[in-house]
Amino acid sequence: MLETQSTRAASIPAEAALRAAAPAVARILGAALQGRELGFSDALELCEVWGDDLAALLSVADELRRRAVGDAITYVVNRNINFTNVCTVGCSFCGFGRSARAADAYFLTLDEIAAKTKEAWDRGATEVCIQGGLPRDLDPWFYRDILRAVKRAVPEMHIHAFSPMEIANGVERTGLPLRDYLAMLKSEGLGSIPGTAAEILDDSVRAQVSPNKLPVARWAEIIRAAHALGIPTTSTMMYGHVEASEHRLRHMLLLREMQKDTGGFTEFVPLGFIHSNTRLYRNGEARAGASRREHLVVHALARLLLGPVIPNLQVSWVKLGFELSLACLDAGANDFSGTLMEENISKSAGATFGEYVAPEEFRALIRSIGRIPAERTTTYRIRRSFLCEDPADRVPVRLRVADEPNAHHPVTGY
Ligand code: SF4
Repeated sequence: MLETQSTRAASIPAEAALRAAAPAVARILGAALQGRELGFSDALELCEVWGDDLAALLSVADELRRRAVGDAITYVVNRNINFTNVCTVGCSFCGFGRSARAADAYFLTLDEIAAKTKEAWDRGATEVCIQGGLPRDLDPWFYRDILRAVKRAVPEMHIHAFSPMEIANGVERTGLPLRDYLAMLKSEGLGSIPGTAAEILDDSVRAQVSPNKLPVARWAEIIRAAHALGIPTTSTMMYGHVEASEHRLRHMLLLREMQKDTGGFTEFVPLGFIHSNTRLYRNGEARAGASRREHLVVHALARLLLGPVIPNLQVSWVKLGFELSLACLDAGANDFSGTLMEENISKSAGATFGEYVAPEEFRALIRSIGRIPAERTTTYRIRRSFLCEDPADRVPVRLRVADEPNAHHPVTGY
């Protein structure tokens, strides 16, 4: 058996890994290496791989990543601004939303959002990522007013904001047609939209975990409308709760079809379910997040299924921690996401990560697996490649709880 304990897929050449794999798995992976598009049944077979077959999948995903985007691992210097945790939607997987009367409910003013933007810019950020809960009495024009406040504070800041659920909320409150509402947000400075609120794009799964959220058809309609207006979006998938492999694959295949039509997705971001502080887990309706093997398989499969049309595959270090993020970056992923500065949503659900990673720390982590750090913009224009090591990049990496030896990993649950 090939050595897979280190999860360093990169250390096993793809051809050697294929020779050690079962013939059926080797056939599917060989076809992927030759550039053939994988269908549902072949991808389903790859969901169940272990041992040498798993090693082969990770190695092929790593090779396809190398061919598609090279050896750089990108990151963006950004700040998350979650402007309120007051929310009436009640998704059972969420540990972030609060009722308006909760003792720890908060609502940032426009001045506070502007001040956070200015502070982020002064610390080198090029992007603010703005999302929040959906309070009952939100002003119909609040999302527009956020854009104005941010642009007044820092005109050059890229605003990556408002999930499709928030867009649907704004459309409903203002009464504007979807296209006009999005065009208005774009003219006020919206640069791109997070493809969140996707969870699993299957209405039967959504009925279990987020029955009050927009259905799949509306999510896709909003994303397509944004792309048609030249507003790029990311794409995401939350996995490791009640869904089965089939749901994940159909989710990715839907994104693939949408991308072939619009070309508007900048990246795909698998988001592991953080279970600890969620009603879904407490009620015994979901498992405690994905296993380590599943995290690796999801990222590798994303490279195989989506890589030809969405070349950028991001790890969420907030959900995974550093050690597992690096393993996924060795299994098909090429982007380390953002510095964030603060990130409230995952922390509220029980993640132990999610405050701030200095760019120097990202670069040290990236170099630790022999890759090249590169700072990017939100839309993947390279701002600066760090081909040569800078002494400043040798900062000691601060271990988060889950990266310490023998610590229980709150995400993978093993
Ligand atoms: S996931 Fe978003 S919409 Fe759902 S309850 Fe949490 S804050 Fe509200």
